[in-house]
Amino acid sequence: MHVKVLGASAGIGQAARTTSFLVDGNCLIDCGTGVADLDTDALLQIDTVLLTHSHLDHSGSLPLLADAHVTHGGRGLDVYTQQETISALQQHMFNGLLWPDYTKAAPGNMPWVRLHALEVGDSISLPDGIATALPAEHSVPALGWLLEGPWRALAFTGDSGPCLPFWHWISHVPSLTDVICELSYLSEQSALALKGGHMSPALLLPLLEILPPNVHVWITHTESSLRSQLLEQVRKELPSLLHLHPLEQGISIEL
Ligand SMILES: [Zn+2]
Ligand SMILES: [Zn+2]
Repeated sequence: MHVKVLGASAGIGQAARTTSFLVDGNCLIDCGTGVADLDTDALLQIDTVLLTHSHLDHSGSLPLLADAHVTHGGRGLDVYTQQETISALQQHMFNGLLWPDYTKAAPGNMPWVRLHALEVGDSISLPDGIATALPAEHSVPALGWLLEGPWRALAFTGDSGPCLPFWHWISHVPSLTDVICELSYLSEQSALALKGGHMSPALLLPLLEILPPNVHVWITHTESSLRSQLLEQVRKELPSLLHLHPLEQGISIEL
């Protein structure tokens, strides 16, 4: 299983792209602005979207991705996320005002956007592995995701504060090698982080203690002006035997 990072920033500007990971060419985890860098052929190969939550930095390219399928004769998209996020997409995105309602089918056809509700613990079969929805704690209902490939497993926090059930869950996955963790606030801003359902180094470090050795911890969702400070705050107290990296657009992880 091949995971390519299309976007790993908290916002846009110059080269920054927001959250989206492309799995084996056909599946997206989140649908932020990084998706817009793909060429049309690559857009049409995508048939599955696993969403963490409704916020636009994670879902904002979904209407235009669907439109590419409509315009160029694609097969449309199966979108998997929890019911609260589906309701938000139906009310505020595909509502016929902000964008055409591609979740409704023309007579005799399938809808271009097929929304599937799932709950924490539910799994989706992918061509070369399995994706499982994990718990998260954010300002709106949100999920993390676990991707298990033939050899290795990767967990993604999505946007989340310190969600103990997520960390306990992934610490029991025997093939876990990689964790992509959001980090939005500095340690001294931990109260703000908790309020918004985000992570700071001070909140993250105790959770890293329960990971098995040799796991790669990838930091994502950082503001570019804070990135080096955030990484330094984690690196100073990183448990030995863990490996810390900034997640960057263009990086690939093999599972
Ligand atoms: Zn969010
Ligand atoms: Zn976000």
